[in-house]
Amino acid sequence: MAHLVLLGTGGTIATRATGEGRAVQVGAAELLRAADAVWPRPGVRVEPHDVAGRASFAARPTDVLDLAGRIASAVAVAEGVVVAHGTDTLEESAFLVSLTHSSPVPVVFTGAQRPFDDPAPDGPRNLAAALRWAASPQSRGTGVTLAFADQILPVVGARKTHTLALRAFAAPGRGPVGQVDEAGVRALATVRPAPPLLAPGVRDLPRVEIVGQYLGADAAAFTDARSRGVRGVVVAAFGSGNTTPEATRACLRLLSDGVPVVVTSRVGEGPVVGLYAGGGADLAAAGAVFAGDLSPWQARLLLACVLAGTTPGDLDAVRDRCLDWLRETGTVSSPDPTSPPRKDPTR
Ligand code: ASP
Repeated sequence: MAHLVLLGTGGTIATRATGEGRAVQVGAAELLRAADAVWPRPGVRVEPHDVAGRASFAARPTDVLDLAGRIASAVAVAEGVVVAHGTDTLEESAFLVSLTHSSPVPVVFTGAQRPFDDPAPDGPRNLAAALRWAASPQSRGTGVTLAFADQILPVVGARKTHTLALRAFAAPGRGPVGQVDEAGVRALATVRPAPPLLAPGVRDLPRVEIVGQYLGADAAAFTDARSRGVRGVVVAAFGSGNTTPEATRACLRLLSDGVPVVVTSRVGEGPVVGLYAGGGADLAAAGAVFAGDLSPWQARLLLACVLAGTTPGDLDAVRDRCLDWLRETGTVSSPDPTSPPRKDPTR
């Protein structure tokens, strides 16, 4: 009989209405009973455990690293692990866990948009789908995935894309990679699992901040970040990876002082690339890492995990390790001899 472990961490899926607002009150065993009422699971034994009982907007990286430790113990004894999690930071927690996960045993994150006591809750069906995916042979070797609204999404590139709708997550340009519904469990695409980056036992992450771009953004946020001792900065840039002239100069200063800069986009879909003089082309020429279509939040965790294993100030090593990971996951392309040469903007 297949053996799965269910880890409850809180989130809307485990909340009921109270006078103060929604509050986590439902443990993993009760969640499991509700999921079983949607789809019974003959031949699968599920062991429920409560790991935490909070909303995910209150979780810290140390909490997620603790969760990663619990998952590592579970994958040693189970054929699949399902994590019931709040949706607000689900894409970050699942991504950080994926950077610690190196087993073929699947880890599936799920959650809900509606509380447990809603008259038409989505949590039981999401959890039932996550359990079916985790128990299926198709999920073996897929690393960490998300199960939401009948879809299975790859963790890399996953984002919360709707505040309230039941289909709350997407992996624009990448997913879904599977489907679970009345017609069964289907793998729709091969998942390339994220290679692990973080050594076991790391208890916290170096400080990396995200600086957003907006009309007229100046250098103040970069200067402030510096004064807080950041080890790296992720820019949520305009469009395909551009920054205001002041922000571009601030990034160039950071890079020349040995502080890594990773470029992402505030757009929500599509890759970044250094195309424009005074913007992205200058950042690329100065050695900023362009993180493909990774969200600013996932890029922040990538950079923090790389920095956790690198000597402070070794900008080349940070850049190389980020790029290796981005290439291995197909997030950025490997150097392509057929692409037209780009003019070197430093000449
Ligand atoms: N809206 C959130 C949720 O789904 C709250 C949280 O992230 O815990 O669960």
